[in-house]
Amino acid sequence: MYKNISKKEWLMIFALETLFLCFFIYLGVYFLNSNFVFKAFHVVGDAILIKTPQNHHILIDGGIKNDVILEKLNKEKTYFNQEVDALVVTHTDYDHINGAYSVLKHFPVKQIFLPINQSNKQVYIDFLSEAQKKNVPVYYLNNTQDLKLKNIYFETLNPNKIEKKDNNSSIVFKIKTQNKTIFTGGDIEKSIEKELLMSDVSLKSDLLKISHHGSKTSSIEDFLLATLPTYSITSAGAENPYKHPYKEVVDRINNIGIQNKITKEKGDISFIINPKGDILFTSQK
Ligand SMILES: [Zn+2]
Repeated sequence: MYKNISKKEWLMIFALETLFLCFFIYLGVYFLNSNFVFKAFHVVGDAILIKTPQNHHILIDGGIKNDVILEKLNKEKTYFNQEVDALVVTHTDYDHINGAYSVLKHFPVKQIFLPINQSNKQVYIDFLSEAQKKNVPVYYLNNTQDLKLKNIYFETLNPNKIEKKDNNSSIVFKIKTQNKTIFTGGDIEKSIEKELLMSDVSLKSDLLKISHHGSKTSSIEDFLLATLPTYSITSAGAENPYKHPYKEVVDRINNIGIQNKITKEKGDISFIINPKGDILFTSQK
């Protein structure tokens, strides 16, 4: 015996079907949005968020101020991703690790990557004990350990030994995705740039994160010519006390013909790489 379906019930069924259809169309559009995003937040120090085509979040450094990175990262949360899939701290200078420690305290973090250099700084000790408390695995990287995180390939080029200077202990990655290469290396200075130039690794990149916030300690001409990117990003917060970036360095980058974008001028800077490998640039103050 079948019960006759009333007009009201038909409407209910129709409404439910429409709702399901909209939901699946939304899911399809969401997961087919297969752009790769490399976003440098406007902070003092470095804080770079990688958004993978499958919508995973990888954070490289967290800037110096705890509240700034939390506010910015909260805005990046989506219904499908509320966690940090990998947190990389390139080295233990405050303008890189302070915000990262705050992220570790307030966000679910799946895994952590640190350079092989250890530190006596309190924030480093606190960072490690927080990771232990939360059972987050910590991996110490050197240049023999390449990574594949969420289908993105990270070739690790530094450190190759324990360094006296924190800056030179920075984790350096050549990131490969969507047929493009991104070079990012914390605060490495001239001596590491020279070491990399002498190695047999190709440094050629499409996008370069300028080292050490455009300080005169880094970005020698030969290194810029070897990476020879179309674009570069200089992360130098408006409130930085060191007057980064140095005019001399900015001029050197411009004279080579690299299109250099500076967070101090543009705000948060995003480079979006679509599946065809086109690079689009956006910024937001
Ligand atoms: Zn720095």
